Amino acid sequence: MRTLTILGATGSIGESAFDLVMRAGGPQAYRVVALTGGRNVARLAEMARALQAEVAVTAHAEELPALRLALAGSGIEAAAGPQALVEAAARPADWTLSAIVGAAGLAPGLAVLERGGTLALANKETLVAAGRLVMATAARTGARILPVDSEHSAVFQALGGEDAAAVARVTITASGGAFRDWPVERLARATVAEASRHPNWAMGQRITIDSASMFNKALEVIEAREFFGLAPERIGVLVHPESIVHALVEHVDGGVLAHLGAPDMRHAIGYALNWPDRRPLPVAPLDLAAQGSLTFRAPDEVRWPALRLAREAMAAGGAAGAVLNAAKEQALDDFLAGRIGFSDMAARVEGALDRAAGEPGFCDSPADLDSVLAWDAFARRTARIAA
Ligand code: NAD
Ligand code: MG
Repeated sequence: MRTLTILGATGSIGESAFDLVMRAGGPQAYRVVALTGGRNVARLAEMARALQAEVAVTAHAEELPALRLALAGSGIEAAAGPQALVEAAARPADWTLSAIVGAAGLAPGLAVLERGGTLALANKETLVAAGRLVMATAARTGARILPVDSEHSAVFQALGGEDAAAVARVTITASGGAFRDWPVERLARATVAEASRHPNWAMGQRITIDSASMFNKALEVIEAREFFGLAPERIGVLVHPESIVHALVEHVDGGVLAHLGAPDMRHAIGYALNWPDRRPLPVAPLDLAAQGSLTFRAPDEVRWPALRLAREAMAAGGAAGAVLNAAKEQALDDFLAGRIGFSDMAARVEGALDRAAGEPGFCDSPADLDSVLAWDAFARRTARIAA
């Protein structure tokens, strides 16, 4: 029986994974080591009981008494705080799904790689902030990373085991998010509620707003560069409002393999959980006749400066990924809190990248977790004021 840990079990990806695991037979199909979550300890405890987990961990120390209470009589251990998350990730498990949102996923993800585990990675921030370190750690320990982001899962599947270095080009698609058809002048006044309505995918609020700003795609381009080792000029983005084609792999002979499917994350999560096998998944079959047409357009970098910033960050290399990611997280916090407008987010990220570029050591890829976190802290401080 495969042993499994889910980091960020109570989020959108975590709930979808839980659904798949329960449908597969729950504790009869998997031996669950750890489940982690945030403040929703009631739900975390409920999931831990349903899956008979060894340990449940909340990211917040002050929630430990509530988690203990919710687990009373179950025999399931309770733990809390960032260090407990890392310890949970370090416990042996065959498969670990990282579905934490943000740079908070980096330390637990690295703990999985340090022990040579298999990391099913939804937390793209891990690769954006620390791609070189993450890939080098996996290479050193023999750990395996399986992509869970739908576009990267699609590339991985379309490659069919071929080396990405041998292909001509990889294109990931973007729905265009909530504002794909808005006049550009209106974007500056977009509200949090408007940015939180995704046309195609049901996801956590942060990634939904990142889809509207295209920062999600900016992160994904960097994620593709780091994970597949592709040169930046060989990674493209196409706006595809229907979200049916998730990625295209173009071979040197001009042949293009695309990966298609209904926009349901349970496909990519289930694919990674079952890999290298394929098993039936509860996703709607693709009905192209009903769909009728699929449309594509080039992304507009005036509407979405995030895509230009991703290209500039890839060209800069070094600590740029860590800075872009953390500055974006800070700018998103400020937008959510009403401190800045929607279009200010890209300006804040650009300001942070500009200032970081003048700092010593910016051109070197961070070689350990502490230096990633130092750049992360610098970027958050700078993004609060830079524009
Ligand atoms: P979410 O906000 O719904 O859930 C995030 C999870 O992380 C929750 O369990 C939450 O409690 C936990 N968490 C939040 N802050 C934390 C912290 N500081 N420390 C530890 N745990 C913390 O997010 P989501 O939409 O499920 O996305 C999770 C990750 O997957 C993100 O990296 C996102 O970019 C990526 N992703 C999501 C989707 C999707 O469809 N939702 C698709 C592709 C990739
Ligand atoms: Mg994606």
